Amino acid sequence: MGTSTAIEWTDMTWSPWEGCQKVGPGCDHCYAESMNRWLHRGENWGPGAPRHAYGDSHWDKPRRWNEAAARTGQFRKVFPSICDPFDNAAPEGERQRFGRLIIDTPNLVWLLLTKRIGNAGPMLSAMFPGGAPANIWLGATIVNQTEADRDIPRLLDAPVSVRFLSMEPLLGHVSLYDWIGQRGGRPGLQAPPMIDGVFVGGESGRGARPMHPAWVRSLRDQCRDAKVAFHFKQWGEWAPGNSCAGNDLIERDRSKIASGFFDYNDIWMPSGPNAFRQTMDKIGKKAAGRCLDGRFHDDFPDTIAHAE
Ligand code: SF4
Repeated sequence: MGTSTAIEWTDMTWSPWEGCQKVGPGCDHCYAESMNRWLHRGENWGPGAPRHAYGDSHWDKPRRWNEAAARTGQFRKVFPSICDPFDNAAPEGERQRFGRLIIDTPNLVWLLLTKRIGNAGPMLSAMFPGGAPANIWLGATIVNQTEADRDIPRLLDAPVSVRFLSMEPLLGHVSLYDWIGQRGGRPGLQAPPMIDGVFVGGESGRGARPMHPAWVRSLRDQCRDAKVAFHFKQWGEWAPGNSCAGNDLIERDRSKIASGFFDYNDIWMPSGPNAFRQTMDKIGKKAAGRCLDGRFHDDFPDTIAHAE
């Protein structure tokens, strides 16, 4: 955790405490938990495990980043990567302390991503009795349509000015038109457009599940139609091999790599290529990269203006 990060969508990572517990299918292969175990950081994970609280020197770092950002006039994005900011088991008083830090660092944009979006509204109100500051981007993790239907209304209810979806690991097709359609999608929708950005990525690490390219293309097109920022973070462990759409036609030496395919119902068949359906090759996150149909998608919400 520090001033640089390999996470594609943020400038820095910093967490107000350390530890969490799994709450949904997006947590199945939690990177932060794996790191915690690998680094022997102690028992901070799981039900009843006390989250680790940090000392003052840790809390001073964002204040220094804020001063540097003020000098250069460049806002910096900070992502708490090894906790959930709306975890019920946060150490006593630390969420309030985090709120004060956010207010004191107006040159940092805080990416508050949660899998507990139902907690966000009341906890934000408690953190910021005078209203949440503009340097918060609030995000909900959405991995499938069930979570979209359940959690996007909660995100829209939260008292913030910038909202985003983190659709990683994307585990199925998701329609967002009920929430972003009015920006240019289907006529007749009444929902106000209140989602500012959509970040999409596949799963990486051991046991990673493949992401069908059609799911990603659909979200790209929905965002384009609605004029919502679309950011494609990564394919994850699995990359497209062939494609019925004629894109990404790649032949690899499959004697050395695992491959499988999505059948006609988008059901994953975990062995062998299939010339007629969507083949996926397990080549690793780095090799799989983040190119979609020949280009990168690096859009962010146009919200720095909000933070000024
Ligand atoms: S909410 Fe996030 S940090 Fe917590 S277990 Fe799930 S994936 Fe890991």
